[in-house]
Amino acid sequence: MFCPNCRSEYVEGITECAECLVPLVAELPPEETTEYAYEDFVTLETYHARHEAELQKSVLEANGIEAVIESDDAGGAGPALAFTRGVRLLVHKDDIQKAQEIFQDLEAVQEEPIAAEFPPEEETETP
Ligand SMILES: [Zn+2]
Repeated sequence: MFCPNCRSEYVEGITECAECLVPLVAELPPEETTEYAYEDFVTLETYHARHEAELQKSVLEANGIEAVIESDDAGGAGPALAFTRGVRLLVHKDDIQKAQEIFQDLEAVQEEPIAAEFPPEEETETP
């Protein structure tokens, strides 16, 4: 059984999608297209420089997330424009949560050495 809305698959016996609260169908209608529609892409982050966006894009793609860079710098020809207006990294709206989690994980890894765990304050050695 499938949800016609979010296309989740459910085991036999379930009649309603837990997420969308719509009745399940036995078969999904054929997908119109396997490619993401551009209007379904949402801005994940805005960067000042294109290379930052490209770095993050490669991280996302390594995790199987399709990402698109959108900037007003005409493909790098006018970096000044890109600086003022920003370079946007877009991901599909279905992927945005996963993308944010990936970035959070990255930040957590990077911050780890700085945010070293100190033992709870126990200043018992006061003279
Ligand atoms: Zn659903």
